Amino acid sequence: MASALTDKLSRLVKEMRGQARITEANVQDMLREVRMALLEADVALPVVRDFIARVKEKALGQEVMGSLSPGQALVGIVNRELSHTMGEGISDINLAAQPPAVILMAGLQGAGKTTTTAKLAKHLIEKRKKKVLTVSGDVYRPAAIEQLKMVTQQAGAEWFPSTPEQKPVDIARAAIDYARKHFFDVLLVDTAGRLAIDEVLMREIKELHAALAPVETLFVVDAMQGQDAINTARAFKEALPLTGIILTKLDGDSRGGAALSVRQITGAPIKFAGTSEKLDGLEVFDAERHAGRILG
Ligand code: GDP
Repeated sequence: MASALTDKLSRLVKEMRGQARITEANVQDMLREVRMALLEADVALPVVRDFIARVKEKALGQEVMGSLSPGQALVGIVNRELSHTMGEGISDINLAAQPPAVILMAGLQGAGKTTTTAKLAKHLIEKRKKKVLTVSGDVYRPAAIEQLKMVTQQAGAEWFPSTPEQKPVDIARAAIDYARKHFFDVLLVDTAGRLAIDEVLMREIKELHAALAPVETLFVVDAMQGQDAINTARAFKEALPLTGIILTKLDGDSRGGAALSVRQITGAPIKFAGTSEKLDGLEVFDAERHAGRILG
């Protein structure tokens, strides 16, 4: 793979031609470049440290294959480790539950939850032939409820009404009831998100989770959030047993380092990527391609 990082590493290893393996001495300089590349891609610092330690362990003493320079060999190791870390456990949405399979959407305000809820509805209808209901538990922003109604209709799914006077848990229970009676396969529950982590919000979403017993709890996170994504991810992981991640706004110009941070902090697989504002802008996450993007 040719990349800016490969070029930098190739320059670094020009002086150490003839070496048959990566050694402690030459690996340090190269790892410094890898570290810079990851930080430039906005991977969070503690995640970078951890990652570099793993790569170092794998790299040391590796035979350098045939015509490959130690630089290229290291890039290969970095690439494999990146795709492996981000790609492990990828799977489509799990619907193995007594219908309706409930999917809880969590994340900060503006991350793309409502849009992604409709994108997922469309995906489940078109690709998996499911009958899908959506409901909003965002009782703080009536506009968010209306927004969900609009995008749900665009997605060809059905929307269950809720009002700001109701408690989120009551809304959720009523929606499940309705879904059962009308034979829906899936219930997607959109939730309130604040601009920053908030105790009350976290308590509320925990209660929702307990009441709904969802088969999937998806953490929706904005790829443009960069370094901050790690704190958001940590807070949601502590509050909820996350089963998957959806990384939105990958059509933006970020290098997408948030993917590695969030994957490492939550341990949950990155299932989908949001690639436009439109409802068909949802793609299965491609870890290998994303590794290339992070390395620049
Ligand atoms: P919520 O507050 O988490 O429900 O976020 P919204 O669904 O309202 O999304 C916030 C903004 O991000 C809206 O303008 C969306 O159109 C936009 N958005 C969501 N996902 C994507 C995406 O994958 N790519 C782009 N370019 N915009 C997105």
